[in-house]
Amino acid sequence: MNILVINCGSSSLKFQLIDSESEKCIAKGLCERIGIEGSMITYAPEGGEKEKTTTPMPDHTEAIRLVLAALTNDKTGVVKSLDEIGAVGHRIVHGGEKFTSSAIITDEVIEAIKECNDLAPLHNPANLIGIDACKTLMPTTPMVAVFDTAFHQTMPEEAYLYGIPYEYYEKYKVRRYGFHGTSHSYVSKKVAEVLGKNYEDLKIIVCHLGNGASISAVKNGKCVDTSMGLTPLEGLIMGTRSGDIDPAIIEFLANKESMTAQEVVSVLNKKSGVLGLSNGLSSDFRDLEAGLENNDENAIRAMKGFCYRVAKYIGSYVAAMNGVDAICFTAGVGENGPIVRNFVCDRLGFLGIELDQELNNKRGMDLDITTPESKTRVLVIPTNEELAIARETAALVK
Ligand code: AMP
Repeated sequence: MNILVINCGSSSLKFQLIDSESEKCIAKGLCERIGIEGSMITYAPEGGEKEKTTTPMPDHTEAIRLVLAALTNDKTGVVKSLDEIGAVGHRIVHGGEKFTSSAIITDEVIEAIKECNDLAPLHNPANLIGIDACKTLMPTTPMVAVFDTAFHQTMPEEAYLYGIPYEYYEKYKVRRYGFHGTSHSYVSKKVAEVLGKNYEDLKIIVCHLGNGASISAVKNGKCVDTSMGLTPLEGLIMGTRSGDIDPAIIEFLANKESMTAQEVVSVLNKKSGVLGLSNGLSSDFRDLEAGLENNDENAIRAMKGFCYRVAKYIGSYVAAMNGVDAICFTAGVGENGPIVRNFVCDRLGFLGIELDQELNNKRGMDLDITTPESKTRVLVIPTNEELAIARETAALVK
């Protein structure tokens, strides 16, 4: 069955058409600047040329209409008609406590997603617009919602509650939820597969290090802790997000810089992380790596701060699980950054980790990068959130 995977943001929409039997991507692309001047669709059939077309997209319905037209067009399309698309899988950022797994989209599910809008005001409404547009254009095609938060719903209370008055949890559901769940779930299962071990017997730490970054502790096949919180701002130092800070900094900076709390939080989201730590040098690790080579003190500071935080979280998750069998790196930085992996693992001598540097320098495949003597396995697994969404969708529609 062909599954259309949609990841809908407020002004952009990423899509992939995946054959759920062969698990191959048949075509993919991106709509940008939806509702803004200069809208553009990029479309690439597998093995074919990438096409970029600038065309008006006043709303998401028009964007999805263009996606469907690209997939079915006579020349570069990959299916003859929409009948060859068996289901649509939507990435939904926040499922709150309502969704512990993926769900077939019904009117009740849409209402329940709307009720989580408060928890992700930038993302969930955009995800819902994508659902609505598909409903209009493909009214009989089944759709599935796959939540970024669902995998983390197995966390125990002591891991998800904040040390604040319990009534805020009762009244507003203020608690830690975690994100990137689709990736953490996909990658942790892959670790067991690569090691040839039973998923339910392993203690795994997944480091999803991309522009947004999070870590999870997966014990016996269940997530027991993760670094992101009520929102994706908590946890690791990221590309532009601060991760953990003393909450009192918000009031302190608001007073010093004459900003509102909202403005400070915007700085914490958009101007912090390695971008902020590097004094504005870059949020991109390729630039930081180039900076390291030139002994740039801004790049060194950002890189050290980032890796220290990753190692510190790994240490705390070893404690949370009372041990660890495998640590896995994934996402843009995790998959492509041998320097980051070295910096992090250098701090983990107590786990008896020995990296094989030749393997650490390889890219683009599932790999155990440790020597046979290493007491803890360290792996690099390329994440594939779209495939994970397609799998969940196919499983529910079948
Ligand atoms: P993601 O959010 O998973 O797409 O990751 C994006 C980030 O991965 C970029 O901002 C870069 O910092 C990082 N990245 C991508 N390619 C490389 C590379 N070849 N070397 C180091 N970092 C990379």
